Amino acid sequence: MSESPGVEGIGQEPLPVGTAHDHRRLLARLRDVMAGLGTGQQRLDKIVRLIATEMKAEVCSCYLMRSGDMLELFSTVGLNENAVHKTRLRVGEGVVGDIAARARSLALANARSHPNFAYRPETGEDEFQSLLGVPILRGGRVRGVLVIQHALPRQYLEEEVETLQTIAMVVAELVAGGDLVSRGELSNVGDAALLPSRLGGVSYNGGLAIGQALLHRHQLTIRDMVADNPDAELDRLRTALAGMYGAIDALLASTADGTEHRDILETYRMFAEDRGWLSRIREAIKTGLTAEAAVIQVQNDTRARMNQVADPYIRERLLDLDDLTNRLLHHLAGKKSATDGQSMPDDTILIARSLGPAELLDYDRSKLRGLVLEEGSATSHVVIVARALNIPVVGQCTDALNRVDPLDQVIVDGDNAQVFVRPSEDIKYTVAESMRMIAMRERLFARVRGLPSVSHDGVPVSIMLNAGLLIDLPHLEDSGADGIGLYRTEIPFMIRPTYPDVDTQTVLYAKVLEMAGEKAVVFRTLDVGGDKKLPYFAGHEEANPALGWRAIRIGLDRPAMLRKQLRALLRAAAGGPLSLMFPMIAEVAEFRAARRLVDMELARIASEGHAPPSKLRVGVMIEVPALLLQLPSLLPLVDFVSVGSNDLAQYLFAYDRGDPRLANRYDSLSPPMLAALRLIVEQCELAGVPVSICGEMAGRPLEAMSLVGIGFRSLSMSPPSVGPVKTMLRSLDVGRLREYLLSLTKCSDHSLRDRLKAFAKDHSIMI
Ligand code: PEP
Ligand code: MG
Repeated sequence: MSESPGVEGIGQEPLPVGTAHDHRRLLARLRDVMAGLGTGQQRLDKIVRLIATEMKAEVCSCYLMRSGDMLELFSTVGLNENAVHKTRLRVGEGVVGDIAARARSLALANARSHPNFAYRPETGEDEFQSLLGVPILRGGRVRGVLVIQHALPRQYLEEEVETLQTIAMVVAELVAGGDLVSRGELSNVGDAALLPSRLGGVSYNGGLAIGQALLHRHQLTIRDMVADNPDAELDRLRTALAGMYGAIDALLASTADGTEHRDILETYRMFAEDRGWLSRIREAIKTGLTAEAAVIQVQNDTRARMNQVADPYIRERLLDLDDLTNRLLHHLAGKKSATDGQSMPDDTILIARSLGPAELLDYDRSKLRGLVLEEGSATSHVVIVARALNIPVVGQCTDALNRVDPLDQVIVDGDNAQVFVRPSEDIKYTVAESMRMIAMRERLFARVRGLPSVSHDGVPVSIMLNAGLLIDLPHLEDSGADGIGLYRTEIPFMIRPTYPDVDTQTVLYAKVLEMAGEKAVVFRTLDVGGDKKLPYFAGHEEANPALGWRAIRIGLDRPAMLRKQLRALLRAAAGGPLSLMFPMIAEVAEFRAARRLVDMELARIASEGHAPPSKLRVGVMIEVPALLLQLPSLLPLVDFVSVGSNDLAQYLFAYDRGDPRLANRYDSLSPPMLAALRLIVEQCELAGVPVSICGEMAGRPLEAMSLVGIGFRSLSMSPPSVGPVKTMLRSLDVGRLREYLLSLTKCSDHSLRDRLKAFAKDHSIMI
């Protein structure tokens, strides 16, 4: 970490620019130019003249990036002035183009012998033998190239390279001002070898959104690059570092041992004390930079190196360092976090490496349109929250923070797991068309909101919501759903740093009931384990987590934990009705054991003087196929049944529901799955037990159609599915579909999807 980034062609001769004092004098003059009057072009011309004088160079030229990956000569001393704004080089063309393409400084004693040398007669550069060029970098992207040339062959020294790199940082700030190249063009500038404009990733939530980029822990705008008093800057650095260490230590102290969080934080802590990193920042300050500018200079070096590194492990470590840099910059700016004092565009696409759920909620939700994560997983907390906010999320988007600049236009296409950065007009047009279609459909769905949820031939079907956070509750009202068919209680547990005690849980459940008003809520007891890890609940490594110690298995092995939750639920009901159900029950005995805990808690709250629920309904989730063979003995014991089709399919087909390679291998619209579902419905009808279904399939119109066809009269789904499912239902003739579905039961096809789609089309069912 401590070696300086490589520059090709560095020599060992004495320093012509002279001492550190000369370097500081040059920086001070630069500051005067930056603070002085004049247009961007005039200031750039002054800077170029200053460099030529101070670095005793016959030529100094500045090329800036224009749209179409072209470098344009913007200012020069020593070359033919008529070539200014005329000479253009493609990225990769000539020595200058090579510096831009590789984002790497180049020092050449004899530029003509470089394989990329491209002679431009209009510039008159044939007299000059040696060349030193540095990329003008901002936000990890090449904005141009700064060059000095000398007539005689000579070796350039490391100090000269550093001086020119420092000046390039100042020029980068001048360019970012938008005076030289308009901001619009700047954001359309191609990204040389560094940035494709389409980023692929993994879809964590579907949907389409367009907006402007807001970088979580983005690079702050640094006003002062040059400082008079290096000692004062070193002091500021010390204070900021102390603040940053304190913040990381506080996080570490609140994080349980053995968790991923802790590992990450410990790595941070280790990197934060990396001597090479810190000494490079201190050295940069001693050359006359402000603490911020020094941190950015080292960050630029790191990023330039990052672009050359193929090894994913080393890249990952360099990314850690990059992240730390941003944290340090916030501490230098006297801010605690990235959101502190940040203004948000009206349509914000948030780009982050990873972030906590609370951090996401720190942003103004009314302006948040989409989320792009460099990391994340489908079950990470931030993704769960983003789904509740109903914004598209693309994760595993490598290097997104480096490839997107603040306020860049960004399209998040959650359905196709892609992100378009500074999209071209045709992509924008296509996306705008799709969004218009979606908006039209939404208007259509809004119209069915207040209409009864009943099929075309008069069969009523209850449409319920799946929820897990308080922010889901307002959807109950706006979607017109009948109630909450599945309240996943583990989600509030997952996003908290510590285990919530009985009182905290009671307050939370009471709030859910209060917000639901007259509508029913079915609380599912803690369904943790498997892929749903609690940060403070250290489990052991399991070879097959989906088949491991999870859900009711934990609840029955740790009855105190489950009893506390049941107590909180009974108290929260405050004498009103209460429905609760147990997840992952595999045998009748487990249900009996869980039910006994409810009875014990009922007795307890009675002894404490709390009123029991006016109507207590205790149900079971059917997720484990073994339960299908025990229905006659199970059903008389339960008040209702809810099918968890996500897990039921996982265990029926023995496939990992989280493995993307298996995502399309089995179809829930297949003969075995529909036969299993049909069996459940028949048995429940026979026993007179209400049955509902709350897995993802209930929220997809074609699947929902089939479920209604085989007899389900209650479906629970995520809020965005309500409109499409209700629209489908109101166009469906259940009687006809039922007959057709029964005729399919003998099929042994892999999937019935195409046949069901064709049926829907033939019968004008709006799927
Ligand atoms: C299911 O398994 O279908 C279900 C609704 O539960 P979860 O997705 O939370 O496991
Ligand atoms: Mg489940």
